[in-house]
Amino acid sequence: MAPGALIINQTEAGRNIRAPSLRRNVHRTAMATGSKKKAARARVIRALPMLKKTIAEFRARSRTIALVPTMGALHAGHLALVRLAQRRADRVIVSIFVNPAQFAPHEDLGTYPRTFAADIAALRALKTDGIWAPSVATMYPDGFATRIVPEGPAKARLEDAFRPDFFAGVATVVAKLLIQCEPDVAIFGEKDYQQLKVVTQLARDLNLRTRIIGAPIVREPDGLALSSRNRYLSSPERAAAPALYRVLKESAGNLRAGHAVGSVLDEGRAAIERAGFALDYLEARHAETLAPLTAKADPIRLLVAARIGKTRLIDNVSV
Ligand code: AMP
Repeated sequence: MAPGALIINQTEAGRNIRAPSLRRNVHRTAMATGSKKKAARARVIRALPMLKKTIAEFRARSRTIALVPTMGALHAGHLALVRLAQRRADRVIVSIFVNPAQFAPHEDLGTYPRTFAADIAALRALKTDGIWAPSVATMYPDGFATRIVPEGPAKARLEDAFRPDFFAGVATVVAKLLIQCEPDVAIFGEKDYQQLKVVTQLARDLNLRTRIIGAPIVREPDGLALSSRNRYLSSPERAAAPALYRVLKESAGNLRAGHAVGSVLDEGRAAIERAGFALDYLEARHAETLAPLTAKADPIRLLVAARIGKTRLIDNVSV
């Protein structure tokens, strides 16, 4: 974990906001539409009291609220989540927080892409209502001592087998975000399918008011799932990367055609390695529980994680 680096980055990001500050911790801008009436409402909120005030304003007008949690470096996949949120609620808050608690010491927290100014511009263009961008110190103040350790889908031996502390970091930050923002709905991408199941279980188990909604994966024209980490790919790696989705689709087709699960997975694993990946896993699991398949009628999700060069990619498809 390198919180120092993160704080510096977030401070830099703060300086990138060119809009005049109306109050401490709040920034508003007018959209470049030439019309004051069309002023964007998006606030960049950095402190909890202002978040609470904003939410109280929304609620006072009986508005429903959707939350879209992100780590920034926004791409079209994130923006699709925002559009879905706008269809599901009156007001949309997008959080941008690179959560140190979900990165292992050897992972890419220090170099995780941070494109705050562009993120804000994209969210304002979409007329997002609020942007919750807390600092690490706001989320994890000195003396912070609580961690949520999820079980069930978080122990499915998929991502958790390779990133043992990842879902505790995710569950803790997501629980905090849901308690802070009190949304009616929260949108999570199917791109991180195990995470979607973990968060759904968390909201249910903790009796949170929020309904968790999954959003379909947005892909490049060649099938590669959009990811903030795709920018790490060299051009030969980028050329090889669509193999992951191609193999998932072929494997799903073979399963639908009635081929045996074991041989479909063996063929798929070999094809992924032939394409130049080091495979972490390719598994067929129960689409809801993520448990190993037990019955022919089980709904199936195929999930893959594989490394190419220094980049680790994940993807999944329904069968
Ligand atoms: P991240 O910023 O990577 O933590 O992602 C924030 C949210 O965006 C998560 O719910 C992701 O599952 C979702 N997301 C990321 N990439 C995609 C994609 N290609 N399509 C749909 N949702 C995505």
